Amino acid sequence: MSESFDVIVIGGGPAGYHAAIRAAQLDLKVACVDAWVGADGKAALGGTCLNVGCIPSKALLDSSRQFWNLTRHFGVHGITAKDATIDIKTMIGRKDGIIKQFTGGVAMLFKANKIAAFLGKGKLLGDRHVEITAPDGGTQIIAGTNIIIATGSAPIELPFAKFDGKRIVDNAGALAFDAVPKRLGVIGAGVIGLELGSVWKRLGSEVTIIEALPDFLAAADAEVAKTALRELTKQGLKIELDAKLSSAKVKGDEVHLAYSGKNGEKQLVVDKLLVAVGRRAYTNGVLGEGTGVKLDERGRVVVDEHCWTGVDGVWAIGDCVRGPMLAHKGFEEGIAVAEIIAGKPGHVNMETIPWVVYTEPEIAWVGKTEAQCKAENIPYKTGSFPFAAIGRAVAMNEPAGFVKMIAHAQTDRILGVHLVGANVSELVAECVVAMEFKGSSEDIARIVHAHPTLSEAVHEAALAVDKRAIHKAN
Ligand code: NAD
Repeated sequence: MSESFDVIVIGGGPAGYHAAIRAAQLDLKVACVDAWVGADGKAALGGTCLNVGCIPSKALLDSSRQFWNLTRHFGVHGITAKDATIDIKTMIGRKDGIIKQFTGGVAMLFKANKIAAFLGKGKLLGDRHVEITAPDGGTQIIAGTNIIIATGSAPIELPFAKFDGKRIVDNAGALAFDAVPKRLGVIGAGVIGLELGSVWKRLGSEVTIIEALPDFLAAADAEVAKTALRELTKQGLKIELDAKLSSAKVKGDEVHLAYSGKNGEKQLVVDKLLVAVGRRAYTNGVLGEGTGVKLDERGRVVVDEHCWTGVDGVWAIGDCVRGPMLAHKGFEEGIAVAEIIAGKPGHVNMETIPWVVYTEPEIAWVGKTEAQCKAENIPYKTGSFPFAAIGRAVAMNEPAGFVKMIAHAQTDRILGVHLVGANVSELVAECVVAMEFKGSSEDIARIVHAHPTLSEAVHEAALAVDKRAIHKAN
């Protein structure tokens, strides 16, 4: 007879490992099946986020930021650093060390929570059984009262620019270059393109980003996107909007690109090409015959608002279901489903999920944009405040950007907050809390914010909603 569990999680990425740990905390017998193998040939729990996503990209963003500041910005502080160099091997080694620390940390948490970790690919069979295919091809079947599918996502490949892992790469490839490419082409000015484009630009690459849409960062507030585009362009990132790639051919050590830009057909020769045009749900081969679980037209597992697939005991969470592909959205779905399985109420508020792009300046937002309010006929008022008038930001030599708060015109309830500037990845948390508690701009305006801090920009933006910001003319 197959070994049986209360909960089997297929996928040990951010969504899956949160579900597994929370279910184990609730005294359920839990197994987690994951196929990711690290550079050392051993299991590496944590999925895309820990292995080739959120954490390694932040490691390289930080290393490259130190180098960029040293070579470009320290002069204003009176600091000179002549002939600064960066050793890419050390930088990549540091990033790899961080990955190991965190994937190992998840393995330790699994042990501490008595979660059975299975290395291999999990496939849901009918009747709530899961078949596990180990890296050596061996198979075994385990049974679960509940199964949570958390198989994540994979980069979308363009048919005319296929990944070869050397010249044409995905996010994983661009996190592991062994030298700074002299010329880097990036397809897609989305989060990955902007973050990894920034890393290599700061280290000396000539970076050209080719984006199909006419609007830069179309999902962000238009004013935020405009400021971000201006600041990123100032740093030397060449961003071509409304540009469609038609071919990418590897010729020796180069990639020759042809694309149609605003001014007609263009050619570009680069040394490396990063293709970052989005990700697709990774559900190929995850469902066996007769499971009853449905996929939508984009290959995502169909679920209701509680992440239930409609099949008894079968749930799905994270990037492989509807909603934004964000690790923290997956975390919370994992926790919510574990709690529902344990008989508790579990819920994720999709209206207050924060977004962050870790460029410089950072970009963050929560809630609705002005464009969405207009489209939904919601009456609103706004208040903005620039970091250039915040003492701490100027003292830090980080005056770029602003905070914009959008509140309901009649009730004053906060509908959205949009930030671009230094450390806004942290500042957005206050805005999420305020929205989660259904706060108003008046609530934030009445809260004491420490001086001098960057958070004063949020406070002043709230005051500005009613034209009473102190440090600017309203
Ligand atoms: P994305 O959806 O953020 O951006 C892809 C961009 O590529 C879009 O602007 C799109 O218009 C453009 N595009 C698509 N096809 C194109 C083509 N043929 N030519 C030129 N441009 C084209 O996707 P991504 O940057 O690949 O990131 C994938 C996912 O990972 C996203 O859903 C994102 O939320 C997530 N992610 C999040 C973070 C973060 O939260 N900081 C970081 C990295 C990735």
